[in-house]
Amino acid sequence: MNSIKLKLMIIYVSVVLVVMILSGTYMIYSVRNEEINRVRSRLSSHADIVADEIVHQYDPTQFWQAPEWGILAAYNIESMILSDIGIPMAPQPFVALLGAQRINDEAVLLAIGMEEGFTTRSRAIDTNRVTQTWIAYARPVSVGATTFIVYTRVSADALNESMSRLMFHLVIMVLIAVVITAILWFFLANTITNPIVTMIDRAKAMAEGELSQEIPVHGKDEIGQLAYNFNHMAKELSQLDTMRKEFVANVSHELRTPLTSIRTYTETLLEGALEDPQTATRFLTIVDDEAQRMSLLVSDLLELSRLDSARSKLDQDVLDLVGLLRVTIRQSQILAEQKNQTIQFETPVDACFILGNSPRVNQVISNILSNAIKYSPEDTTISVSVETTDTDHRVYIKDEGVGIPEDSISRIFERFYRVDKGRSRAMGGTGLGLAIAKEIIEEHGGNIYASSTPGEGTTMVLRFNRYFEAAVDSEKD
Ligand code: ADP
Repeated sequence: MNSIKLKLMIIYVSVVLVVMILSGTYMIYSVRNEEINRVRSRLSSHADIVADEIVHQYDPTQFWQAPEWGILAAYNIESMILSDIGIPMAPQPFVALLGAQRINDEAVLLAIGMEEGFTTRSRAIDTNRVTQTWIAYARPVSVGATTFIVYTRVSADALNESMSRLMFHLVIMVLIAVVITAILWFFLANTITNPIVTMIDRAKAMAEGELSQEIPVHGKDEIGQLAYNFNHMAKELSQLDTMRKEFVANVSHELRTPLTSIRTYTETLLEGALEDPQTATRFLTIVDDEAQRMSLLVSDLLELSRLDSARSKLDQDVLDLVGLLRVTIRQSQILAEQKNQTIQFETPVDACFILGNSPRVNQVISNILSNAIKYSPEDTTISVSVETTDTDHRVYIKDEGVGIPEDSISRIFERFYRVDKGRSRAMGGTGLGLAIAKEIIEEHGGNIYASSTPGEGTTMVLRFNRYFEAAVDSEKD
């Protein structure tokens, strides 16, 4: 039996045990109390009869021979008349048995003090001289100036016996309940522990490297939720693992292409091409281009790894998005002019403040603009606009370029994903630009997405959270 099952069983059985013992004790206590009260009222009404039928009817010298004793003796209650100091006066068998001995249990002592007395613990001999425990009752009865005590008692054995019988039944019941509980638990526990055991096995398998694990989810309780989240985690881990493998393969591939090219040209140069200065210059230019591409790739990779690992908060300031866009557009103007493209900026009426890291936001916008320029033909227009909602500022960068096919639109933010590998490479792209942009924007609490009609153009949208206090400050200024 695994330990969680055992622990739960111990808890369960203990709870049943405690509840049953407590309720059993309470039950015995109240049954006994009720029984004692019943006996007390029987003893008291018996005493009434003795007082009414004998004490008040006969002369004290006649008490012992009153015929009523015969009728009273038919009950299992013993009744006596005692003197005011507790010495038996009638009926005859007790007088003979005790002589001038006083009865002095608690009940009689109270009656001597002129009070009604009752005790459940009177120890005395019966007419057979056997010592018994009695439940006894005594009451003073006055006739004229003389006081007598009417004393009635019944053996406590019957009561004690029925109590121990009740106790015995209770113990048996507790034992049966515990056994039934344990059996039920044994079967029910599986429904709780089995999924946990499965999860332990799967987690072990995952730790050993088998990442694609799935466990059945039964219901929505805590265990169901645990199973659901376990599956979710397994899926994410497995995806991450695939991504990692793909990433390494991509990096190797991207580095191999320029390296092969560099090696081919340097070998050719070494084999004699150096002799011809024209060819040598052409080849060395290619080598230089390839080396630059590699260095660009490496710096992009370093940038990504910084974004991945640091996750430390960027230094953020309140930025004027409009001013920032103006500066970045001016920087990109040179590139656009080379293709005779125009960048239009619809300046919003109000200032747009965000919380961000200025060089990083500049880097992202510049990257999106350079893509718009790269993937659009000559003589086209790129328009930049800002839209403000209750919660955020959205920058729209719209071009009239080649566009992005629908099935690629969600993938362009992946590392190394390029719609047209040849074209991207020819433009000096690494396929990492948008992935870096996405990381930076998300680090700012915003997001980036694209919409496009192939052949007509693309619109990239950058969403930033609005910064409100800045707006208030600026109004004050
Ligand atoms: P690259 O270095 O290849 O430009 P990016 O990550 O910047 O890498 O972009 C990924 C791919 O998304 C590009 O290769 C290109 O196919 C596509 N893309 C990005 N921006 C545009 C755009 N404005 N118009 C058309 N295609 C685009």
